[in-house]
Amino acid sequence: MIVILLGPPASGKGTQAGALCARYGIPQISTGDMLRQAQAAGTALGRDAARFMSAGQLVPDSVVIGLVGERIAAADCQPGFLLDGFPRTLAQAQALDQLLTERHCKLDAVLQLDVPRTLLVERAVLRRTDKATGKIYHLKYNPPPADAVLDHRGDDQEDKVNKRLDDFERVTTALIPYYQARNLLHRIDGVGSLAEVQARLFAALPG
Ligand code: AMP
Repeated sequence: MIVILLGPPASGKGTQAGALCARYGIPQISTGDMLRQAQAAGTALGRDAARFMSAGQLVPDSVVIGLVGERIAAADCQPGFLLDGFPRTLAQAQALDQLLTERHCKLDAVLQLDVPRTLLVERAVLRRTDKATGKIYHLKYNPPPADAVLDHRGDDQEDKVNKRLDDFERVTTALIPYYQARNLLHRIDGVGSLAEVQARLFAALPG
Protein backbone atom coordinates (compact mmCIF):
# COMPACT_ATOMS: atom_id res chain seq x y z
CA MET A 1 0.00 0.00 0.00
CA ILE A 2 1.55 3.27 -1.11
CA VAL A 3 -0.52 6.30 -0.14
CA ILE A 4 -0.06 10.04 -0.30
CA LEU A 5 -1.77 12.19 2.31
CA LEU A 6 -2.23 15.50 0.54
CA GLY A 7 -3.56 18.56 2.29
CA PRO A 8 -2.68 22.09 3.31
CA PRO A 9 -0.68 22.79 6.49
CA ALA A 10 -2.70 21.89 9.62
CA SER A 11 -5.29 19.91 7.65
CA GLY A 12 -4.68 16.93 9.96
CA LYS A 13 -2.20 14.90 7.91
CA GLY A 14 0.16 14.23 10.81
CA THR A 15 -2.72 13.54 13.20
CA GLN A 16 -4.40 11.01 10.90
CA ALA A 17 -1.25 9.33 9.58
CA GLY A 18 -0.72 7.12 12.66
CA ALA A 19 -4.04 5.27 12.37
CA LEU A 20 -3.67 4.74 8.62
CA CYS A 21 -0.14 3.42 9.04
CA ALA A 22 -1.21 1.07 11.86
CA ARG A 23 -4.07 -0.28 9.73
CA TYR A 24 -1.81 -1.21 6.82
CA GLY A 25 1.38 -1.95 8.78
CA ILE A 26 3.34 0.67 6.86
CA PRO A 27 5.67 3.47 8.02
CA GLN A 28 4.79 7.17 7.91
CA ILE A 29 7.22 9.27 5.89
CA SER A 30 6.84 12.90 6.86
CA THR A 31 9.32 15.15 5.10
CA GLY A 32 8.52 17.92 7.62
CA ASP A 33 9.42 15.60 10.53
CA MET A 34 12.59 14.41 8.75
CA LEU A 35 13.69 17.99 8.14
CA ARG A 36 12.96 18.99 11.76
CA GLN A 37 14.96 15.97 12.95
CA ALA A 38 17.90 16.94 10.71
CA GLN A 39 17.65 20.47 12.11
CA ALA A 40 17.61 19.20 15.72
CA ALA A 41 20.60 16.94 14.99
CA GLY A 42 22.48 19.96 13.61
CA THR A 43 23.41 18.30 10.29
CA ALA A 44 24.44 20.45 7.32
CA LEU A 45 21.22 19.50 5.56
CA GLY A 46 19.25 20.47 8.67
CA ARG A 47 20.96 23.85 8.87
CA ASP A 48 20.32 24.58 5.17
CA ALA A 49 16.67 23.51 5.44
CA ALA A 50 16.13 25.58 8.60
CA ARG A 51 16.63 28.82 6.65
CA PHE A 52 13.65 28.00 4.43
CA MET A 53 11.50 26.42 7.11
CA SER A 54 11.76 29.25 9.60
CA ALA A 55 10.63 31.64 6.86
CA GLY A 56 7.64 29.40 6.06
CA GLN A 57 9.12 28.65 2.62
CA LEU A 58 9.39 25.35 0.79
CA VAL A 59 12.75 23.59 1.01
CA PRO A 60 14.30 23.06 -2.48
CA ASP A 61 12.93 20.06 -4.40
CA SER A 62 16.35 18.38 -4.73
CA VAL A 63 16.72 18.22 -0.93
CA VAL A 64 13.36 16.61 -0.17
CA ILE A 65 13.48 14.31 -3.21
CA GLY A 66 16.88 13.06 -2.00
CA LEU A 67 15.51 12.44 1.50
CA VAL A 68 12.48 10.52 0.24
CA GLY A 69 14.54 8.50 -2.25
CA GLU A 70 16.82 7.31 0.54
CA ARG A 71 13.99 6.67 2.98
CA ILE A 72 11.83 4.51 0.68
CA ALA A 73 14.81 2.27 -0.06
CA ALA A 74 14.84 1.16 3.61
CA ALA A 75 13.65 -2.37 4.45
CA ASP A 76 10.61 -1.23 6.47
CA CYS A 77 9.17 0.41 3.33
CA GLN A 78 8.96 -2.98 1.57
CA PRO A 79 5.22 -3.43 2.39
CA GLY A 80 4.53 0.16 1.37
CA PHE A 81 4.48 3.56 3.04
CA LEU A 82 2.42 6.65 3.66
CA LEU A 83 3.78 9.97 2.46
CA ASP A 84 2.80 12.96 4.60
CA GLY A 85 3.80 16.38 3.26
CA PHE A 86 5.42 15.03 0.09
CA PRO A 87 5.06 15.64 -2.82
CA ARG A 88 4.33 19.36 -2.58
CA THR A 89 5.35 20.46 -6.08
CA LEU A 90 4.85 19.03 -9.56
CA ALA A 91 8.60 18.37 -9.80
CA GLN A 92 8.42 16.33 -6.58
CA ALA A 93 5.39 14.37 -7.89
CA GLN A 94 7.25 13.57 -11.11
CA ALA A 95 10.37 12.55 -9.17
CA LEU A 96 8.23 10.28 -6.99
CA ASP A 97 6.79 8.59 -10.09
CA GLN A 98 10.32 7.99 -11.28
CA LEU A 99 11.42 6.59 -7.90
CA LEU A 100 8.41 4.25 -7.81
CA THR A 101 9.01 3.05 -11.38
CA GLU A 102 12.64 2.31 -10.54
CA ARG A 103 11.45 0.24 -7.56
CA HIS A 104 8.76 -1.50 -9.66
CA CYS A 105 5.95 -0.30 -7.43
CA LYS A 106 2.93 1.92 -7.92
CA LEU A 107 0.93 4.50 -6.08
CA ASP A 108 -2.39 3.18 -4.72
CA ALA A 109 -4.16 6.34 -3.61
CA VAL A 110 -3.88 10.05 -2.95
CA LEU A 111 -6.06 11.22 -0.07
CA GLN A 112 -6.73 14.93 -0.18
CA LEU A 113 -7.90 16.48 3.09
CA ASP A 114 -10.20 19.46 2.46
CA VAL A 115 -10.40 22.06 5.24
CA PRO A 116 -11.44 25.74 4.88
CA ARG A 117 -8.62 28.24 5.23
CA THR A 118 -9.99 30.08 8.29
CA LEU A 119 -10.04 26.82 10.21
CA LEU A 120 -6.52 25.94 9.06
CA VAL A 121 -5.10 29.17 10.45
CA GLU A 122 -6.78 28.59 13.80
CA ARG A 123 -5.63 24.97 13.89
CA ALA A 124 -2.00 25.86 13.17
CA VAL A 125 -1.75 28.85 15.48
CA LEU A 126 -3.16 26.86 18.43
CA ARG A 127 -1.31 23.62 17.55
CA ARG A 128 1.20 22.35 20.09
CA THR A 129 3.46 19.28 20.05
CA ASP A 130 4.34 17.32 23.17
CA LYS A 131 8.15 17.45 23.25
CA ALA A 132 8.42 14.05 24.94
CA THR A 133 5.96 12.00 22.85
CA GLY A 134 5.67 13.98 19.61
CA LYS A 135 1.87 13.87 20.02
CA ILE A 136 0.00 16.76 18.42
CA TYR A 137 -2.56 18.73 20.48
CA HIS A 138 -4.79 21.76 19.94
CA LEU A 139 -5.14 24.23 22.79
CA LYS A 140 -8.90 24.62 22.18
CA TYR A 141 -10.16 21.37 20.59
CA ASN A 142 -7.77 18.74 21.94
CA PRO A 143 -6.00 20.22 24.98
CA PRO A 144 -2.74 18.60 26.12
CA PRO A 145 -2.26 17.11 29.60
CA ALA A 146 -1.42 19.77 32.21
CA ASP A 147 2.11 18.40 32.78
CA ALA A 148 3.09 18.14 29.09
CA VAL A 149 6.11 20.15 27.94
CA LEU A 150 4.93 21.74 24.70
CA ASP A 151 6.55 22.98 21.54
CA HIS A 152 4.95 25.65 19.35
CA ARG A 153 6.49 25.34 15.88
CA GLY A 154 8.11 28.57 14.70
CA ASP A 155 6.38 28.17 11.33
CA ASP A 156 2.98 27.94 13.08
CA GLN A 157 3.01 31.71 13.80
CA GLU A 158 0.13 33.37 11.96
CA ASP A 159 2.19 35.21 9.31
CA LYS A 160 4.18 32.04 8.48
CA VAL A 161 1.01 29.95 8.37
CA ASN A 162 -0.52 32.35 5.86
CA LYS A 163 2.63 32.17 3.74
CA ARG A 164 2.53 28.35 3.82
CA LEU A 165 -1.17 28.33 2.90
CA ASP A 166 -0.48 30.71 -0.01
CA ASP A 167 2.24 28.33 -1.22
CA PHE A 168 -0.13 25.40 -0.94
CA GLU A 169 -2.77 27.19 -3.00
CA ARG A 170 -0.24 28.47 -5.55
CA VAL A 171 1.99 25.40 -5.94
CA THR A 172 0.64 22.24 -4.34
CA THR A 173 -2.91 22.41 -5.71
CA ALA A 174 -1.36 21.69 -9.14
CA LEU A 175 -1.06 18.11 -7.91
CA ILE A 176 -4.83 17.72 -7.72
CA PRO A 177 -5.48 17.51 -11.50
CA TYR A 178 -2.21 15.54 -11.86
CA TYR A 179 -3.54 12.70 -9.69
CA GLN A 180 -7.18 13.16 -10.69
CA ALA A 181 -6.26 12.42 -14.29
CA ARG A 182 -4.92 9.05 -13.12
CA ASN A 183 -8.00 8.28 -11.03
CA LEU A 184 -5.96 8.20 -7.84
CA LEU A 185 -7.43 11.19 -6.04
CA HIS A 186 -9.93 10.88 -3.18
CA ARG A 187 -11.23 14.14 -1.70
CA ILE A 188 -11.93 13.78 1.98
CA ASP A 189 -13.84 16.28 4.12
CA GLY A 190 -11.29 17.11 6.81
CA VAL A 191 -13.71 18.97 9.08
CA GLY A 192 -15.00 16.98 12.03
CA SER A 193 -13.74 15.00 14.97
CA LEU A 194 -10.57 12.95 14.69
CA ALA A 195 -12.69 9.76 14.57
CA GLU A 196 -15.05 11.12 11.90
CA VAL A 197 -12.23 12.15 9.58
CA GLN A 198 -10.43 8.84 10.23
CA ALA A 199 -13.57 6.89 9.23
CA ARG A 200 -13.79 8.87 5.97
CA LEU A 201 -10.14 8.15 5.18
CA PHE A 202 -10.54 4.43 5.93
CA ALA A 203 -13.65 4.27 3.75
CA ALA A 204 -11.70 5.63 0.77
CA LEU A 205 -9.11 2.83 0.93
CA PRO A 206 -9.45 -0.92 0.42
CA GLY A 207 -10.11 -2.85 3.67
P1 AMP B 1 5.19 20.17 7.47
O1 AMP B 1 5.57 19.59 8.79
O2 AMP B 1 4.79 19.14 6.47
O3 AMP B 1 4.17 21.28 7.59
O4 AMP B 1 6.53 20.86 6.88
C1 AMP B 1 7.19 21.89 7.57
C2 AMP B 1 8.10 22.64 6.64
O5 AMP B 1 9.10 21.75 6.11
C3 AMP B 1 7.44 23.22 5.38
O6 AMP B 1 6.83 24.48 5.62
C4 AMP B 1 8.63 23.32 4.44
O7 AMP B 1 9.48 24.41 4.79
C5 AMP B 1 9.38 22.03 4.76
N1 AMP B 1 8.91 20.91 3.92
C6 AMP B 1 8.33 19.75 4.36
N2 AMP B 1 8.03 18.94 3.33
C7 AMP B 1 8.42 19.60 2.21
C8 AMP B 1 8.35 19.30 0.81
N3 AMP B 1 7.81 18.15 0.37
N4 AMP B 1 8.85 20.21 -0.05
C9 AMP B 1 9.40 21.36 0.37
N5 AMP B 1 9.47 21.73 1.67
C10 AMP B 1 9.00 20.85 2.59
